[in-house]
Amino acid sequence: MIQALGASNGIAIGKAFVLPNWEWELPEKKIDVADLAKEFERLYEGVRRSKSEIARMKSELDEAVGVQESSIFDAHIAILEDPVFMNEIQGIIQRQYKAAEVAVKEAIDHFVTMFDLLDDEYMKERAVDIKDVGNRLLKHLLGVPEISLPEDTQPFVLVVRELSPSQLIHLRPELVLGIVTMVGSPTSHAAIMARAFGIPLVMGAEGKLEAPIATGDLLIVDGGTGQLFLDPDPSTIEVYAGRRSRHLEQREKLRSLIAVPSLTPDGFTLQLASNISSIKELEASLDCGAEGVGLFRTEFLYMDRNHFPSEEEQFEVYRAAAEKLQGKPLIIRTLDIGGDKQLDYYEMPAEDNPFLGYRAIRFSLDRKDLFKTQLRAILRAAAYGDVQVMYPLIASVEEVREANAVLDQARRELEEQGIPHRSGIPAGIMIEVPAAVAIADLLAEEVAFFSIGTNDLIQFTLAVDRMNEKISHLYEPFHPAVIRMLANVVEAAKRRGIPVSVCGELAGDVLALPIWLGLGIEELSLSAQAILPVKECMLRTRSTDCRSVLEEMLRCRTAADIRRLAENFHASAMSCAGG
Ligand code: PEP
Ligand code: MG
Repeated sequence: MIQALGASNGIAIGKAFVLPNWEWELPEKKIDVADLAKEFERLYEGVRRSKSEIARMKSELDEAVGVQESSIFDAHIAILEDPVFMNEIQGIIQRQYKAAEVAVKEAIDHFVTMFDLLDDEYMKERAVDIKDVGNRLLKHLLGVPEISLPEDTQPFVLVVRELSPSQLIHLRPELVLGIVTMVGSPTSHAAIMARAFGIPLVMGAEGKLEAPIATGDLLIVDGGTGQLFLDPDPSTIEVYAGRRSRHLEQREKLRSLIAVPSLTPDGFTLQLASNISSIKELEASLDCGAEGVGLFRTEFLYMDRNHFPSEEEQFEVYRAAAEKLQGKPLIIRTLDIGGDKQLDYYEMPAEDNPFLGYRAIRFSLDRKDLFKTQLRAILRAAAYGDVQVMYPLIASVEEVREANAVLDQARRELEEQGIPHRSGIPAGIMIEVPAAVAIADLLAEEVAFFSIGTNDLIQFTLAVDRMNEKISHLYEPFHPAVIRMLANVVEAAKRRGIPVSVCGELAGDVLALPIWLGLGIEELSLSAQAILPVKECMLRTRSTDCRSVLEEMLRCRTAADIRRLAENFHASAMSCAGG
């Protein structure tokens, strides 16, 4: 058994499909001068086949999930059409008489090393795309079926070194039983998306495997505990097959709670809204009984295409979301680009610390043209539902005022142009930077609501990179500093009388429920898969008990003590007879 990090609940049992890893070696193969023309023809044929394969995958995905999700493939085709890339390969064949596949590998290695050296998250993402395309081209040049993407409809467990949000977007969820990554951590956006799709995910297996996983190996993946079994014996398979069916049964049983109001036994309510990044995820969350959207991560609209979305394109998506919600609230977060979320078509500056850098509201306030376009689209969509706007990564009062000034300018423009919209929509902020916690009382006077983004707040409070699996044991949501921060924010919001919700991943952790109920938070915004498990827990949890356990937590000196309290509380609530 291999113990790695559990990142998305559920059990998968199936054959591995190992996404080709660029690190594999090719024998040095030379060609005869007389065969140069033939070698070029092999290369062009490989490129033709790769392009038509990509085009086919793109059109399949267009049909399955929509053009927006599939447009990553345009970037892949563009690489195959890029003269710099193709010249490099042709040059190696022509000058060094190397076989086409060796030339492709060398060219890709060259570009990938160059991009990796730049220490820039955007370029690293591009390196992933180049490897992807390169592997596909190699597959066609070598004619090795074992590295081809499974083309039949046999579901598989995907094994991949690292997983980017854009890679995940172009997987067909129905074919992916589970995912194992070598590096990465549970609060990365790829992990958040896997949870939204309900795909079991284990991360950070690097250095823990005795032998590399090969395509075709049988795997058991337990995304809850982070355990991984390679070529398990029949008795382990039986045990996990049992756990898997109990997990699925439990998930099915929870569906009976969809229409049940989210109320504690002593009559307190906590709205259960959802986090979405696309209309598809909105549909999935409505299917789980979401009472609104507490966080629409709009950056995914900007990703996987080759230009900034126009006002009209954004308006259509926001309006569709508002209409689907039929009057339930829709909180649209303005672009939170940067960090691990990059755009194919916009080169971010190279930064040593991208999570602390040019991102989110900082980017929007620097590019007010793009920001205003988004705000206009949001204001227009607000005519179709209860649409609210939220700014990410706010660290000062000045930023709120500056953002609101652009909102006001967008509203005035629409008014002058006679374009239908709704003015005066509530504008709130994410509380995800310790500075915002420290001045929560001041910020509360400037905004309509707070939404606590625990993913970033924990990483910044504890100085623990949320993407780094080596220190993921230090990423401790139950750290006393985090609990105190949460209490401070809620107190500031309550004193000013503004609503406060939680939209980080901690909101979906059932162990944290007594914190929210104890603090008197109004709303949680969760990934679709977390809504019903949290509701089930809430139906058995007395709010008054939460207040006393929270008081105890606030007196604790260590994270271990707080966690123990949370675990005991949860166990006793769930075992309560008649709950
Ligand atoms: C957060 O930081 O908690 C959050 C919800 O935003 P994101 O995960 O998109 O950074
Ligand atoms: Mg955040």
